[in-house]
Amino acid sequence: MKMIPDNIKREILAYGAENIVSIIGEYVPLRKTARAYVACCPFHAEKTPSFTADPGRKTWHCFGSCGEGGDVAKFLMKIDGISFPVALERLAIRGGITIPNYDSGEERERRGMLNVLAKVQRFYHNSLLKNQNGAKAYVGTRMTDTMVRQFGIGFAPVGGKVLVDYLDKERLPLSVAEKAGLIRKDAAGNYRDTFRGRVMFPIKDKAGYIIAFAGRTISATKSRCKYINSPETPLFRKSATLFGLDGAIEAMKLKGEVYVVEGYIDLMQMWSAGINNVVATCGTAFTREHAALLKRYVRRLNLMFDGDDAGRKALQKSILLAVKEEMKASVFIFPEGQDPDSFYRNAGKTETLITMSGFDFLKQSGVEMNATMQNLHRLERLETGFAYMAKTIPGVARLLAKRGNLGELFCPEILPIIEETINHHGGLRK
Ligand SMILES: [Zn+2]
Repeated sequence: MKMIPDNIKREILAYGAENIVSIIGEYVPLRKTARAYVACCPFHAEKTPSFTADPGRKTWHCFGSCGEGGDVAKFLMKIDGISFPVALERLAIRGGITIPNYDSGEERERRGMLNVLAKVQRFYHNSLLKNQNGAKAYVGTRMTDTMVRQFGIGFAPVGGKVLVDYLDKERLPLSVAEKAGLIRKDAAGNYRDTFRGRVMFPIKDKAGYIIAFAGRTISATKSRCKYINSPETPLFRKSATLFGLDGAIEAMKLKGEVYVVEGYIDLMQMWSAGINNVVATCGTAFTREHAALLKRYVRRLNLMFDGDDAGRKALQKSILLAVKEEMKASVFIFPEGQDPDSFYRNAGKTETLITMSGFDFLKQSGVEMNATMQNLHRLERLETGFAYMAKTIPGVARLLAKRGNLGELFCPEILPIIEETINHHGGLRK
């Protein structure tokens, strides 16, 4: 690997310095003040903004408890978890700066995979347009042509080797396609398609690059998995990826809130209904990483999960995750037997849904709460959420009483409320 020449390095860093506000603004919602731009720090939990980006000094700094700071490259390294050379390379690409003869390996591999994934998306999309294996019949009942175009929906043909043959014909490296999770070796060591006979949903990163796919079977046979995702790859981690994030960022910043749904088609249907500040989990539970990711843009989560038992359990967990990230959570309840897809397909209006705050929802489902609360005494400082819950749910007060050492958990303003509540529920055990 060659080094980046000093003069180019200076050019890249100067570009980053000049554009510090717009680059950092892609990650955190910066608000302009008299001297600088401020936001809640993405590197520690806080309610009042102490993170500042200063276009005059061309640096950022957190005046809160983490005290981090530095230039734009340092910010990218920290927030994306990348090395200094990779941060420089990303800045160079953003700024259109060419680094002569430079090749970090890491970034080349990333670009190679992104390239193959983009080509394969077009291949899948064309397969659908050509109505391979009659895929259009299924797609036609679930989504409009506009949705198919807008989200680049495709179809992975049946056969087992159709994509492998295409990659071969296009001279796209099979090893790269394998690393990107598109093909895999069978027991005999021959490459086979990962996805077969499935409607394909491209999953993008926040910049809009395709990093993975979700495939839904069109076969009526019950035994096959309904949805499968790309395996985890260097580009794709399910627990840290949200479907639709790239398209939702602007609307999220504008509205200050985001809808979280479970399904790809739920999200697409909401787009058709004009709601763009929406993301979907990729066939996994809503995680703390998801919450932390969304916190860069919004402070309120509107959770729209299915109204069944599994959905209710997921809601409880998600509300607690939101509390941990010091975000507000609301719950939207759909009419019996409906989900966001069916609701918005029938021109439903969000205003007609039953909504309640996350805490009210937790209270209502109090019977199942104790199990969920088992984890609470292990949590970090969650003053507001704890105070509220301790006051409204006796089980929480009892758990806190057992834990003791409340001074570690709560700030001085909250501690008296907690102690009072616990005493009310039978007191601290000495
Ligand atoms: Zn901080």
